[in-house]
Amino acid sequence: MPQETVAALAVTPGVEGSLHHTTVALPPLGPTDVLVQTIRVGVCGTDREIIRGDIGEAPANADDLVLGHEVVGHVAAIGAEVTTLSPGQIVTATVRRPDDCPTCLAGEPDMCLWQGFTERGIFRAPGFLAAQFVEDQRWLIPVPDPLVATAVLIEPLTVVEKAVRQAELIQQRLAYWQLERALVVGAGPIGILGTLLLRAKGVDVTTVARTPGPTPASRLIEASGAHYRSLKEEALPEIAAEIGNIDLIIESSGSAEIAFEALRVLGTNGVEVLLSITGDDRPIPLPADELNTGIVGGNKVVVGSVNAGAIDFVNAVDRLARFEELWPGLTEQMITNRLTFGPDIDLRQIIEKSPGEIKTTIEFA
Ligand code: BGC
Repeated sequence: MPQETVAALAVTPGVEGSLHHTTVALPPLGPTDVLVQTIRVGVCGTDREIIRGDIGEAPANADDLVLGHEVVGHVAAIGAEVTTLSPGQIVTATVRRPDDCPTCLAGEPDMCLWQGFTERGIFRAPGFLAAQFVEDQRWLIPVPDPLVATAVLIEPLTVVEKAVRQAELIQQRLAYWQLERALVVGAGPIGILGTLLLRAKGVDVTTVARTPGPTPASRLIEASGAHYRSLKEEALPEIAAEIGNIDLIIESSGSAEIAFEALRVLGTNGVEVLLSITGDDRPIPLPADELNTGIVGGNKVVVGSVNAGAIDFVNAVDRLARFEELWPGLTEQMITNRLTFGPDIDLRQIIEKSPGEIKTTIEFA
């Protein structure tokens, strides 16, 4: 039974610049608990918003929140009643934990109705950016050994797995709908993984971002057979005119303005999935009549999607394996910056995104 403390990185939510080293006591292993030895943790835009003090909440009765919600590790020890995992196995973890609302009870905490959920490393539950952590077997996803190098990308991949799954479910409203052409807005990790997912499904994908290529992101996107276009060089309507009817838009730009701009180019019968949680409160003038008439006249759907379901984790593991078959070594190139966890870790590289960075990871010995 672990009863020791382990090193971790935490913030004081709401306090900018509060990222700091800490130690956390591991809870005793309950019968269905698993002790996970952390291998690698990914840093994402959400972590940086938490570090800036914009979002994030500490667990009840605590001042600090341990960061980290993108993780890969191996099983170090299991409780007496653990049936699904064995020591040595590679695992990742889901992020959200349910409240008692009907949707959570029905097995979909990612659709939580009462919003009383917790999210590890984000809202009211400690994250995985620690040398070891304890988690119930229920929330751990086994990962085949060959995927250990890229498994830290499973969690962000689940966000687009859910987005595309939602779009496909919604489009069952139509007697005919073929996902032929997609627009991905944003070329951060979510945009890149969305591009790869849609390319793996054989979709004609155009991915747009602000920065003109070539960039590390644009090279990855083009290597998957998608088209990369810069919004600094061309306006979205011009790019869209060349694509044809856009069946699906995956919006991950991080900008509400771009999210609504994209809606103007969504094709007839199309669906736009909004994934960016945007924190800017600047008012934006919108062409409301054009948008409204376009949505009504073209039978379009705009849907928001957050977090991911258990099924999305299972699908993401399979998808990651498929990426490896299609483009060996490509997905791992998304990890552009590796930091080694320890007292000397350069916290600035966690706080600030560096130019050309796609994904920073923190590696545990
Ligand atoms: C995570 C999601 C989470 C969302 C909002 C994202 O970065 O990938 O799992 O639900 O942030 O907290």
